[in-house]
Formats: sequence, C-alpha cells, structure tokens
Amino acid sequence: MAGTLYIVATPIGNLEDMTYRGIRTLKEVDLIAAEDTRHTRKLLTHFAISTPLVSYYREKETQRAQELVDRIEAGVNVALVSDAGTPGISDPGSILVKRARQASIAIVPIPGPSALAAALSCAGLEPGSFLFIGFAPAKASQRKKLFQSLISSCYPLVFYESPHRIRQFIADAWKVLGNRTVLWAREMTKKYEDIQETDLAALAASIDDQKVRGELVLIVHPGETEFPSHESIEELLSWYRENSDLSMKDVCKKVAADIGVGRSEIYQQALKIWNKV
Ligand code: SAM
Repeated sequence: MAGTLYIVATPIGNLEDMTYRGIRTLKEVDLIAAEDTRHTRKLLTHFAISTPLVSYYREKETQRAQELVDRIEAGVNVALVSDAGTPGISDPGSILVKRARQASIAIVPIPGPSALAAALSCAGLEPGSFLFIGFAPAKASQRKKLFQSLISSCYPLVFYESPHRIRQFIADAWKVLGNRTVLWAREMTKKYEDIQETDLAALAASIDDQKVRGELVLIVHPGETEFPSHESIEELLSWYRENSDLSMKDVCKKVAADIGVGRSEIYQQALKIWNKV
C-alpha cells in the first residue's frame, strides 16, 4: 500500500508556534524531506524528533520529487517541511505535490505558521481580498515592469522581500506606484518584531539611514485612482487603456480574469476600442 505525503508548516521564528499535530506527524512519518537539513535538524532536536531527514531543495526539486514519489509509492510515509512557514508558499514543494497528485498519492496538509497569514492577520484589510505576489524580481527592470502591471490593481499587494534588497524595492515601488499606505511586518513572532502601518514615501525617506535586518513582508495598499463601476466591459477596457501601461493582450487577460468572462469575447470588444484611437 502506498504511503502518504504530509505538507507540514513549521515556525517562522518562534518555536512555540509549532503545532501539536505538526510535531506528532514529524515523529510518526518514516522520512522528512527538508529544504535545508541542517536548519530542520535544529527544529527536530528541540522537539526530540529522531525521524531520518533527506534534503529537498529548489535546485534539485525535480529529481528529488521523483525519488520521493517512488518511495511513497513503495509504502514510505513522507513529511515535507521548508526552512520556515508553509512549504509551497515561495518555498520548494510544488513539484513534489504535483508529481504526488499525478501518482494518486494521498496529500495531507498540516497547517500552521506562514509569514503571509501572519502579516495579513495584522493588516485589517476590508473585505479581506488581496493579491499575493511573493518575491518581486531581483532585476530592477523586471521589478519595475511588475509594479507597472499592478498599478491599477484594486487589491492590496502582498510582497516578501529580503533586507538587502528592500531599499531598492521601496524606491522602485514609490516611483512606479506613487505614494501608498504600506503594512511593514518585520521579524514577526521574534524578539524584535516590528509591525507598523506607514507609507512608501516615509519608508523611502527613513530606510536610507537605518540598516534593515531580518525578514520582511510588505502589504502595499491600492492607489487612490477611482475604478469604474464595471457596468460594462467596454467601460472597463477603456479605463485600463487610459489609466495603465498594460498591452491590449494583458488588459484582456486581466479583465477576463477579474469578471469571469471568456477571453475571446473581451478580445473582440478590445479590438474595437484600441482601433478607434
Ligand atoms: N513558506 C514561507 C511562509 O509560509 O511564510 C515563506 C518562505 S520565503 C522563502 C521567506 C520569506 O518569508 C522571507 O524573505 C520574508 O519575506 C518572509 N518571512 C519569513 N519569516 C518571516 C518573519 N518572521 N517575519 C517577516 N517575514 C518573514
């Protein structure tokens, strides 16, 4: 009989956040696949878990995923963990999950900490919708392009960022998106936790002088541009044409996804609008 694949969330800084079910699962499985075995060994030592570890990291994801699927099919129960938080959220995991699903292996989530959920829980978003981006590209030109494509998003944007790139991230976001309210969530669950609501201009001004340390989530609120009432597709397309730098193709993709209408119908209307000018 095939084994089961458990996706186990682990703390994002504070070991007290490890769940009872997570500990029990890590004790009971035959094998733990970890993003970094040295890092996970510290967690296992803390909770007196002696289950064997195997590495499962981004560069070897495809190869390791197949090896793990083969072992699970042979009856081995495997738990996947990442360095912190929930595997698969800006962390390795998706290839293993996809392969396991293709092989009809049972996949069981063991939920728990995630920097995404922790930051959102302090953001007070109404009504709670958001767009999770994760890490913006490291290359400035690609990062700016991403920001441009998000100018007209009516959803708060959730970013992960590392301290050594944060200054440039803030500068580019401010330049492209204009000043916006931001939830700054640094070192969550740790001793020097720093969560505050501020804005891009204030961050750009202060970040020059201070050395930012630790891990960061940023939630960038939507701009103040008025959105059309979405009464007609034509109105929506015209609005995007006038207020964003998106290509016609990208506008069609976005409008189709936003309002749940087939892309070909949107495309016919967009052609009329774009050809008018
Ligand atoms: N899978 C993880 C999760 O569920 O949160 C995220 C992994 S991703 C590689 C690591 C990023 O998550 C960091 O660069 C940072 O943006 C964010 N992060 C992780 N721990 C954090 C913490 N304690 N405080 C703030 N951000 C954190």
